[in-house]
Amino acid sequence: MSEQTLTIIKPDAVAAGNAGKILAHLEGEGFRILGLKRLHLSRDQARAFYEVHRERPFYDSLVEFMTSGPVMAAALERDDAVAGLRRVMGATNPEEADEGTIRALYASSIEKNSIHGSLSPENAALELAFFFSRAELIGA
Ligand code: GDP
Repeated sequence: MSEQTLTIIKPDAVAAGNAGKILAHLEGEGFRILGLKRLHLSRDQARAFYEVHRERPFYDSLVEFMTSGPVMAAALERDDAVAGLRRVMGATNPEEADEGTIRALYASSIEKNSIHGSLSPENAALELAFFFSRAELIGA
């Protein structure tokens, strides 16, 4: 069933000039780009986005990294988009990511791992609303 999910091309991939290649990879996997924004997250925005991880030891470092340069946030649509994006991204740690996945191709470490993807349909709805208004995604 057609579903929406949220991806973020992280600062490492944008800085390395890989944003276009990653978007092309996603289109090649059947994702339609419904919305796309380039933005430089503030500290408060990054902290809020990763609120679920606030007790994790890497939280401060993750917030630092995610605010280190511009990102590209994209709303994606496809059949089985949430789980499909997770498969196309590969494992969090690029050393464990399957060959040909975005993280295997573009990530440099478990933190600087090039791309974010929503974990569940419920999480996707929250994350899409974080970056895009309903009006921007209706009929896109
Ligand atoms: P994801 O859903 O695959 O992105 O992974 P998580 O939700 O577990 O973690 C969120 C993000 O935090 C990851 O994508 C990494 O950028 C970062 N991260 C996760 N685990 C670690 C870790 O052990 N160390 C550091 N420095 N960063 C991590």
